[in-house]
Amino acid sequence: KAAREAYAERNPNSKAAYDTAVQVLPGGGTRTTLACEPFPIYIASGKGGEMTDVDGHVYKDFLSDFTSGIYGKSHPALQAAISKALTTGVQFGGHTTSEARFAAGLVARFPSMELVRFCNSGTEANLNAIGAALKHTKRKKVVVFEGAYHGSLLCRFSQNEPEDVPGVLRAPYVSEVSLSVKALLDPITTEIGAILVEPMLGAGGAVPGDPVFLEGLRELATRIGAVLIFDEVQTSRLSPGGRQALLGITPDMTTVGKYFGGGFAFGAFGGKREIMDMFDVRRPNPVSHGGTFNNSALTMVAGATALEQILTPEALSNLNALGDTMRDMLNSGFQTSGAPFKVTGLGSVNQIHCTLANELRNSAHDLLFFGLLERGYWTAQRGTLALNFQNTSEDVEEFVAAVVDAAQAVTVAANG
Ligand code: PLP
Repeated sequence: KAAREAYAERNPNSKAAYDTAVQVLPGGGTRTTLACEPFPIYIASGKGGEMTDVDGHVYKDFLSDFTSGIYGKSHPALQAAISKALTTGVQFGGHTTSEARFAAGLVARFPSMELVRFCNSGTEANLNAIGAALKHTKRKKVVVFEGAYHGSLLCRFSQNEPEDVPGVLRAPYVSEVSLSVKALLDPITTEIGAILVEPMLGAGGAVPGDPVFLEGLRELATRIGAVLIFDEVQTSRLSPGGRQALLGITPDMTTVGKYFGGGFAFGAFGGKREIMDMFDVRRPNPVSHGGTFNNSALTMVAGATALEQILTPEALSNLNALGDTMRDMLNSGFQTSGAPFKVTGLGSVNQIHCTLANELRNSAHDLLFFGLLERGYWTAQRGTLALNFQNTSEDVEEFVAAVVDAAQAVTVAANG
């Protein structure tokens, strides 16, 4: 309560912005993930790896918009490409050559994407991929996994909203322990058209899927004739070819989104030629796939530029190594200080988990979140951490010290 009061006192302009916004936006915004009690912070501007809120507080960004903000706020290569595109015109309702250039870049990185189509979000990418898989297999059932997040409209697929959705089967997501998924799904195999899985649960807590589990899904899908879809909306940044390349597993379809749009709204779904061919208008009865902004000139230019100039294998490798170092440093810091937290994840995508009992967990996360804001760090209340190209190793060292320091308040509260 005291932390919340201090937060309210430090952020009068955000409070005023919230009071205005809440009159026309339910909850004061349009993203549930950003909700914050008593009110969220409103951002005025950003530069490099920092942003400034409407009260003038400056934050170093360690959330990177839940992985989308990988470039930081003002990457010079993107700014140059976007500025140029602004002068040559936007929104043509016609194709530009950047569209195929961008697609070629993606296809070169993901062998599972022989052909690709663009859309406007990860949610749309998954919806389109599921639709294509069911059409291709002429089956009606989709398997998804507990704790998964495949997008806003697909929330009900996961344990977040455990109501039943016709045609959707929920199976346990297996991490760390190898388990025969085949045995689990065997009784229903002939009806399954698609198996949709995140190679690591992202929003579900940065929980890496066991390679044996993911390999088991590959074998199962092949055996029963289902389409295996890897949702790499978050994990694609773990290597130039995503987690699938790191594991050497090739799904039949892949979905991506977030940062690949170079900072703009983006999603893409791709897969084997024999599946994606259904969208080819030269074929009889092609499947229609529209979307006014699917090939937005700005997104195409930004995405192609980012792939060619920023998301190099070396840059991704360095960023992920920095993330691995940060996770190790945080975990040893928590261990040494006895703070009730632990970090999971892979490379540059991580999550802080509180190890206290269920009812204390949210308060612990809140205390840590407010403590980090006061120390000048932008993270997520639920503990998500994602690095961006503007985070240096010195930033990471300072950040780790700040997290361990802020976590002391939780240790004291938990023991007191
Ligand atoms: N899939 C995963 C793994 C995600 O993390 C997200 C978003 O967080 C989505 C899909 C949905 O993407 P979008 O928010 O662009 O619809």
